[in-house]
Formats: sequence, structure tokens, C-alpha cells
Amino acid sequence: MENLRDKYEVVIGLEVHAQLKTKSKIFAPDGCEFGHEPNTQTSPITLGMPGVLPVLNKEVVNMGILTGLALNCEIPECCKFDRKQYFYPDLPKGYQISQYDQPICVNGYINVKGKRIGITRAHLEEDAGKLVHAGADGLAGSSYSLVDLNRAGTPLLEIVSEPDMRSSEEARNYMEELRNIVRYIGVCDGNLEEGSMRCDANISIMPKGSKEFGTRAEIKNVNSFSALQRAIEFEIDRQIEIVEEGGQVVQETRLWDDNSKETRSMRGKEDAHDYRYFPEPDLMPLKISREWVNEIKNKMPELPQAKRERYIGLGLSEYDASVIVEQMGLALFFDEVLKSGANPKTAVNFIMGEIAAYLKEEHIEISDTKLTPENLSELISLIEKNTISNNIGKQIIFEMLKDGTSASEIVEKKGLSQITDENALKEIVQKVINSNSNQVEAYKNGKTQLFGFFVGQVMKETKGRANPKAVNDILKEILG
Ligand code: ADP
Ligand code: MG
Repeated sequence: MENLRDKYEVVIGLEVHAQLKTKSKIFAPDGCEFGHEPNTQTSPITLGMPGVLPVLNKEVVNMGILTGLALNCEIPECCKFDRKQYFYPDLPKGYQISQYDQPICVNGYINVKGKRIGITRAHLEEDAGKLVHAGADGLAGSSYSLVDLNRAGTPLLEIVSEPDMRSSEEARNYMEELRNIVRYIGVCDGNLEEGSMRCDANISIMPKGSKEFGTRAEIKNVNSFSALQRAIEFEIDRQIEIVEEGGQVVQETRLWDDNSKETRSMRGKEDAHDYRYFPEPDLMPLKISREWVNEIKNKMPELPQAKRERYIGLGLSEYDASVIVEQMGLALFFDEVLKSGANPKTAVNFIMGEIAAYLKEEHIEISDTKLTPENLSELISLIEKNTISNNIGKQIIFEMLKDGTSASEIVEKKGLSQITDENALKEIVQKVINSNSNQVEAYKNGKTQLFGFFVGQVMKETKGRANPKAVNDILKEILG
């Protein structure tokens, strides 16, 4: 397959659904929190009862505008809602309220690892309910399905990219950056596994150098970044094989099965006219004043790209900067530590080193620990003032994480402050030398690698409290 790959260019465009983190639904007052008893978040509006009317939730519009601005989109003065008709048991009204030809956001882009990926548009819509197939739920052989309408009416923002991506890796990077953005601006959890962010990948291939895109297949049901990449890779090979055998790729929707690692045809792709879109008669077109847009613009938090650049400016490597930005909890914690004046490099070494390892091991977030930014900052200043060694710092951080004790308390309680007094250290060094006369002789006869052994002995003697530089200097002086 590898050399066949060289003959083709891959074209990818993503449609990403982000579930907006509002308290109530897009057109109804019922809550949209995850995890409630089935069918308990279902007002008559959600159930599509006759005579009810949708009322637009202003917070949904605020979040739509905020996201559009973060994606460098234009926010048109006027947008409107449309009915998209289709029949399915999880859709009580028989239509979904969406936005068709006048969406809330248009013409945007984001920069992903140096490449600009266009955003065609982003539009607001309501989610459908969920079908629970009883057979799949352990009741094998049962032939019915249950419908849970709690999710129906949950606000979604569908973000549609231009077909600008050329590899599965680019698609994954785009999706990851999009997730970073919606999380940092606080509009979406960005949790692919739980479905608060969902992605349909449109994929086509064309001969290298061709100007005309091939027919695309749309892949649904990818619920992790790695599954997205795997699904795209599988699909590229599938399409190449069809074309190489003289066949044609058909436009269709395919489902990714992450167990069997393949895509399967789900249905032929509907064209827009199949949905019989028409303007939603129960909702007025929505006028968005420039004042409204500016008010939201002024509240824009720092975006991931800007954060990475700021961290690099502080002396972090590009790699460290992106790793920390990927983990929003850690990045926000890091920002607090910086505010209290700590050295950025030392802070990031602690956060990405001991702290990240601890969190991973315990399967928790930084907010689940007792460590405060002030305490980490104090620990760092104790190291910089040479009150304790870096090694001691790395040991006591775990107690700080577990108990919330401050570094100075631990140092005092355990007598961990560093020994920098030259006379005291000389005495200890002398003692080590006296009791290791064989090694001293070997050292003097040229076995200079024993130097580390002496340092180690002094550290052992002082329980790690000796200032390493001072020990080195004294040893050199005495051993000659
Ligand atoms: P639909 O709702 O029919 O899927 P959309 O316009 O909402 O149509 O989305 C189309 C998506 O497919 C966009 O992300 C776009 O970039 C992408 N796309 C369009 N043409 C191609 C193509 N030939 N190959 C790959 N992706 C494509
Ligand atoms: Mg689509």
C-alpha cells in the first residue's frame, strides 16, 4: 500500500459537533446535565407536544459568538434557524431545528502546527435523543429499543472545516487544537469518549497533482483522537484499493468500528434537498448587534496558541509548552504559580515531572490534590535560596500533594535544610575520606571515576542535605 499511497493525494474535511455547556437546553428550560434517569429532563417542548413553541436560550448564542471569535470567524449581523426534516424515533418533532444557509459563524480559520485550516462555518442546532438498543444492553435476543430523550434539545455548535487537511495526522492535530480552544473558552468539555465532542470525517483521494477532488465518504462514530486517525488511515487504503481496481468511490456515510478496525457502509449520503430544509417559522431571524459581539470579544480568555507562545517566551521548549497546554488543569495551575513570581523553568519541571507523574498514577486531576500554587511557589523559592536542595524538593512535593503541607513546614519538621556551612561540610568530607582509605588510594592512583562515589558517601552521610556544589569543591580540594 505504501507506494500506492505516493500516487494519491488525500483530502480531509471535518465536521465537529461541540456540545455547549449551558445549564438549560437550546429552546427549552429543562436541564441538559449528563447522567440523569432516562426521560427526566423532558419538558413538553423537548417532547415536541402540539402547540408548544421554542424559545432561544441567550447563553447558547453567547457561546456561539465566543467560539466563532476564537475561530477567527465573521459573525454576520443576522442569522436564522431552519427545520431539517427527517424521521427517526429519537427525534419526537420529526425535524431538527438547525441553521442552514445563514449560520451564526462564517469564514474562519485556525492555525494548526503552522498550517492554516479554514473553517467554512459554524452553526447552532439541537441534539437528538438517544436510542438504547436493548439487545446491546445484555438482553440478547430482545427485539426492541428504548428511547431516552434527556439529550434531545441539548445545544450543539457544528463546526465545519474546509477540505484543507492532507493527512490523518493533520486531521488529528486540527481536532486536538479545536478541543483545546473550546475547553479554554469554557464552552464545551471536549470529551470525545463521553460524546460531548463528536467528529465526522470526510475523506476523499485524488491522483497527485490533480485539481479536482474525488468523491468523499463520511465517517461517523469515531470517539477518540487515535480512533480518528485509525479510521482515516483505513478509509484512505479502502478508497485507493477501489480506484486501483477500476471502481469508483460512492458518496456515503460509513461507520467506524474500533473493534474490528474498519469502516462499514451505513447509508447512502443524503443531499440537502432530502431534508426539505425551510426557515423555522416559530423563531424570528436573530439580529446580532456589533455591541453584543464586542462585549463578548472583551471577555475572550487567552487562547491555546497565545498561551503556548507566552510559555515559549518564558524559556520553555516548544514541546514542553504544547504538552502543558494540552492539559488545561495543569496550565491554569502553572499560570497561578507564575503569578506568585516563581521561576518558570523550575515550576514547569515540577509540574511536568513529579506532579504529572503523581496525577497519572493516582488517576486524578491537579484540583483533586491539596497542592496550592502558593505552596509550589514557596517550595521553588526555598530551592533557589539554597535552603533545600533540588532533590529534597522532589521528595517533599509528594507530601505537599497529599496533605497540603507547606514546604517550609516540612523542612522545619524534618530538619531538611541544606548544609552549606563550609566547615561543617569539610568535617563530613574528612570523615568519609578517613573511613574509605582504600578508595582514596585507588583514586590517587588514577581511578578518578571514584569521585562520584565520594560525593555519594557524603550525601548518604547528610541524608541528601549537603549542598552538592560545595561538596564537589571541598572534595576536589582535599583529594587534589
Ligand atoms: P454534509 O452535511 O453534506 O456532510 P457539509 O457541507 O456540512 O456537508 O460538510 C462537508 C464536509 O466535507 C466539510 O468539512 C468539507 O470540508 C468536506 N468536504 C467536502 N468535499 C470534500 C472532498 N471532496 N473530500 C474531502 N472532504 C470534503
Ligand atoms: Mg456531513
